[in-house]
Amino acid sequence: MHSNKRYRALIVDDSEMNREILKEILADELDITEVDNGEDACEYMINHSGEINIVILDLVMPGMDGFEVLRFMKYKHLSDTLPVIMISADSDENNIEKAFDLGVIDFLSRPFSERIVIRRVMTTIRLFRRQKELVDELDRQYKADDMRIDDLTGLDYKQTFYNKVYTHLRGNPNDRLLMIAIDVDHFKLFNSYYGWESGDRYLKFIAKYLKEFTQRFGGIAGYLGGDDFALLAPYKRQELLTFGNMVWKSPELSNYEVGFAPKVGIYEIQDPLEAVGSIYDHAKIALENIKDDYTKKISWYNHSMLQNVRDEFELLVDIKRGMAENEFIFFVQPKVNMHTGRIVGGEALVRWNHKEKGLVSPGVFIPVLEKNGFISQIDKLVWREVAAWLKSRIDDGHRPIPVSINVSRADIFTMDVTDYLEELVNEYEIPRELLEVEITESAFVEEENRIKEELNRLRRTGFTVLMDDFGSGYSSLNTLKDLAIDILKIDMKFLRMDVTNMNKGVSILESVVNMARALHIPTIVEGVETEEQVDFLTKMGCIFAQGFYFYRPMPVDEFERLISEEEKVDFKGIFISDLEPVHVREFLDENLFSDVVVNNILGAVAFYEVEDDGTIRLIRMNKQYSKLIGREFVGEDEENEELLTDAIRPQNYDRFQDMFSAAYMSPLTGTEDILRFTRSDGEEILLHIRLFFLRKRPDVRVYYASIDRIS
Ligand code: C2E
Ligand code: MG
Ligand code: MG
Repeated sequence: MHSNKRYRALIVDDSEMNREILKEILADELDITEVDNGEDACEYMINHSGEINIVILDLVMPGMDGFEVLRFMKYKHLSDTLPVIMISADSDENNIEKAFDLGVIDFLSRPFSERIVIRRVMTTIRLFRRQKELVDELDRQYKADDMRIDDLTGLDYKQTFYNKVYTHLRGNPNDRLLMIAIDVDHFKLFNSYYGWESGDRYLKFIAKYLKEFTQRFGGIAGYLGGDDFALLAPYKRQELLTFGNMVWKSPELSNYEVGFAPKVGIYEIQDPLEAVGSIYDHAKIALENIKDDYTKKISWYNHSMLQNVRDEFELLVDIKRGMAENEFIFFVQPKVNMHTGRIVGGEALVRWNHKEKGLVSPGVFIPVLEKNGFISQIDKLVWREVAAWLKSRIDDGHRPIPVSINVSRADIFTMDVTDYLEELVNEYEIPRELLEVEITESAFVEEENRIKEELNRLRRTGFTVLMDDFGSGYSSLNTLKDLAIDILKIDMKFLRMDVTNMNKGVSILESVVNMARALHIPTIVEGVETEEQVDFLTKMGCIFAQGFYFYRPMPVDEFERLISEEEKVDFKGIFISDLEPVHVREFLDENLFSDVVVNNILGAVAFYEVEDDGTIRLIRMNKQYSKLIGREFVGEDEENEELLTDAIRPQNYDRFQDMFSAAYMSPLTGTEDILRFTRSDGEEILLHIRLFFLRKRPDVRVYYASIDRIS
């Protein structure tokens, strides 16, 4: 049957003539929308994805090119519903292959044959629709299966939940009701921390409490898949809070790190006729507002939140204008050798020189750009400016020092970072050692493999890679040894070294610095603000720093003046300190392992003592360690002692014993081995153990072990 509805094509091409030609060819069969650049195409697709049936995309365009539009579509999951045909005059096979990899359905090269173009476009639309129908049908069957009650949680699944809420709202239009969205922070990470089984248990536990709530107070609970729950609840503020606190303090929850606590967003239903999906969205917006903020568990919806979403859009529009008007520049903050005070390099930090607002700092616009997948626009611009500046320095006959640029996680998913940087250094003919790359630590937490892959590519291509903001996220030192990075940047602010927990901060810093040294990774400490900090950092053996104490970020010309005095510059750059390892100060005496941060930074670690007669004793382990070896973590008591001693025995005990003398002999590098181990549940596993000698005490030597499982 021929339907009356015509399909709509979005034509994206910077050349007006090309658009005209295509329109001419296609206008009989299709409605047409046209845009002349990649940015507008993205914006249009986001706002009108349901109205178009195909995208016909030019490869070569100024600004965002075809590849980038494709990456954006992938990132925003637009490619799932929208087929793309790529057009280009060149039939370079690499490009074609790359385009197909990015999800293009077909490729047309200019000049076109009119009849073929029509056929291919129409066929693509129909095939894609047919395929989508099939997928939808499968989806429907699948959904019908667990339409009513979800197996795992025993709660109503989305559609049933929505239906019940709908009926309830119509039946009780005068009740004061709340919609509550619940999800678990970092749930993906939770699964990789504790395993899927624990993940399932955790979801069941939330479901149990929701059911209990509805039994006690009324309301309807539902499971929306993943880690998303929803609750329609009567407006009883006090009961709600009391109940919430009970859940948050429950024994089930206390097994896990606080970073994984469930969070709730609450929306008071204003209009019982509002669509249930939209009601839930309001609750979800409230929830999103406190995501990644450890200090908040509950968020009530208010209108400013929706306003925030609108503000964001306006900001994006303003950024686009700012880019066109060259308002984005970069400042440089020097990195120094603390011993000599000399400058060893710089970091380029973007600034928005806004025509009305003056200098705007990246904290205001970078997060918005990252969230929306537009960050690479600005980054490419800044990196290019940096490359051009390096080139101009070389051309002017100066001896250059390296400057690092910042790459955000979203860049890696929306553009080809390595390719682009390589193009830049080639185009500007600068040695690639001069353009260093900073990637922030939190990037390594999710989708680890994709990031690792990019990291390796960057290094193979000859770029120096710095891990930025170490200590901010969940990476452990164990991760560090698997990641091919060149330099580690530790940020003081993540150690929260205020007066009250100075000691703890220092201990963490020491262990990180020691471990990095053992792994032969040079470090820079960032955010150094005071003389005291410089003092203890140098005592600890740190050499390199970046911070307001030395220099603030400064305009490029100021930086040029600074480094033109060559005695202020140290061309040796950043290297590994070959000082003796510092002894971890009273490591064991501070109640270090009660701290979430330490647990996360260090990974699975334990301390061993070896007596002069060779007796080995496990004296401390953190949760991750006890989990790996399958022993429960017990607090400090006598039972613990036996448990700890008992928990060290791998099958190859002799080899384990040998490790201790080997570690003692090489205090800088430590030693490592792979040993078989029987967990308390009887399972045999292979453990990769690294062992470092820490210090000598009367009659005993103290060692530090980190383990990970390899089977
Ligand atoms: P970052 O890469 O960790 O950069 C260091 C930040 O710490 C800079 O903030 C710098 O001004 C600040 N800082 C340096 N020393 C001190 C100190 O002693 N005390 C304190 N309190 N702060 C200090 P800025 O320039 O506001 O940049 C913030 C973040 O924005 C950067 O953190 C980076 O993640 C991001 N960023 C900056 N430029 C770019 C860029 O071109 N592209 C991308 N993707 N991100 C950028
Ligand atoms: Mg940085
Ligand atoms: Mg940093």
